[in-house]
Amino acid sequence: MTEEELWRAVLAQIQLTISPANFATWFKDTAITSLKDGVASISVPNSFVKEWLEQKYHKTIFKILHSLNEEIKEVKYEFSKSSPKIQRKNLVSLRENGQLEFPEFKVDKETNLNPRYTFDNFIVGPCNELAQAAAWAVAENPGQVYNPLFIYGGVGLGKTHLLQAIGNKVIKSFSQKKVKYVQTEKFVSNVISAIRNHQIEKLKALYQPIDILIIDDIQFLAGKEKTQEEFFYIFNSLYEKNKQIVISSDRSPRAIPALTERLRSRFEGGMIADITFPDFETRMAILKTKCQERKIEFSEEVLNYIASAIQKNIRKLEGALNILIAHQNLQGSPPDLKTAKSLLKDLTSSLTRAITPKEVIKTVAEFYDLKEKDLLSPSRKKEVVKPRQIAMYLLREELKSSFPFIGRKFGGKDHTTAIYAYEKISKELEKDENMREEIVLIKQRFISGEI
Ligand code: ADP
Ligand code: MG
Repeated sequence: MTEEELWRAVLAQIQLTISPANFATWFKDTAITSLKDGVASISVPNSFVKEWLEQKYHKTIFKILHSLNEEIKEVKYEFSKSSPKIQRKNLVSLRENGQLEFPEFKVDKETNLNPRYTFDNFIVGPCNELAQAAAWAVAENPGQVYNPLFIYGGVGLGKTHLLQAIGNKVIKSFSQKKVKYVQTEKFVSNVISAIRNHQIEKLKALYQPIDILIIDDIQFLAGKEKTQEEFFYIFNSLYEKNKQIVISSDRSPRAIPALTERLRSRFEGGMIADITFPDFETRMAILKTKCQERKIEFSEEVLNYIASAIQKNIRKLEGALNILIAHQNLQGSPPDLKTAKSLLKDLTSSLTRAITPKEVIKTVAEFYDLKEKDLLSPSRKKEVVKPRQIAMYLLREELKSSFPFIGRKFGGKDHTTAIYAYEKISKELEKDENMREEIVLIKQRFISGEI
């Protein structure tokens, strides 16, 4: 097993546990440079990454390395300018062979687009056909059909893929059009630093020449009023010029808390399409296509197993495939069903693992953009009361927690408070469609394990 193969296998597993943006930030341009006396040396591109890997990812990296090669007893991270040659060599081959495996590393600096997300490799099924059709129409006639196009759905279901596919198609068919893909978190931090440096006008001016503005994960604007204001300005100035705007979110516009009314009504003024969980056939089709792309074959039985075990997150579905491919590369033969099951044990068990009350509270707090301590406090503010009742409801409904337990969790409240909350939310669910949708979205977050 070469060092390079080993590192690729490690990255394939790490990729599953963190977001694509984090993966690209911390693992791009890393490689194993030597394996000697039980010590694996990992070269990193700068000292910041070195520190980060040591502090945040060391345990994970070590655990995976050790599981692949028991002789490894220690991992070191090196940022050295003196050995660029070795680094380069390993990096190049990692990129050449790893193109499909680690596409997060291949982003265009100007547009922020990743060329690997296209319509061609986007599988269409009942879960996403409306969103796909709308995205296609927009890419063919930017600014002419649906504006803005707003696509929403849970984690790992293909929103970023579709958004980027629009961008990639547009630059291909209209080479003169200027496309920009922006992650909302990035946008927020740009606005904040522009305000601090008195450069907000300059920042806004940067958006003026854009023909297609693609904003991913807009839910991160929740509660950030100043940023919303600047975004509203940019949105309007483009919209008035018939420039295309495409937006994604993990929930519908009306379920985004603390979104100014004028932004909400702007979002609702265009086309809204959602993406739901893929059915079994779609999951199989995705797996088969990915196998074809990677020129690799697994038995029907193994593919069946993956598609049945992983139902709610296409990123995890791909991740499972990556683990099996890494295994195949190391062993030289495809895994049988038993091996596949054991290789994917961690992944599938993390999907079915028990959810803790703390996670429920954290997820609800995050969903409504509140601090956990506010949710647990006795505050009677309207924006806190409902989320608190929902948290209590979910503890009862999903975890079967007892009412006295729930009462204690929430700042020593009497169990009757918990019963009241549970009954109130249960009743509202019967008649309030918005509420039903919010609960489904919160539950999806537990299920996809992104907490
Ligand atoms: P989201 O932005 O909704 O969290 P992504 O767009 O990042 O999800 O999708 C996660 C992974 O799953 C990506 O690698 C993407 O290419 C893949 N994927 C999602 N939906 C599809 C699909 N319909 N066909 C093929 N690949 C898909
Ligand atoms: Mg995304």
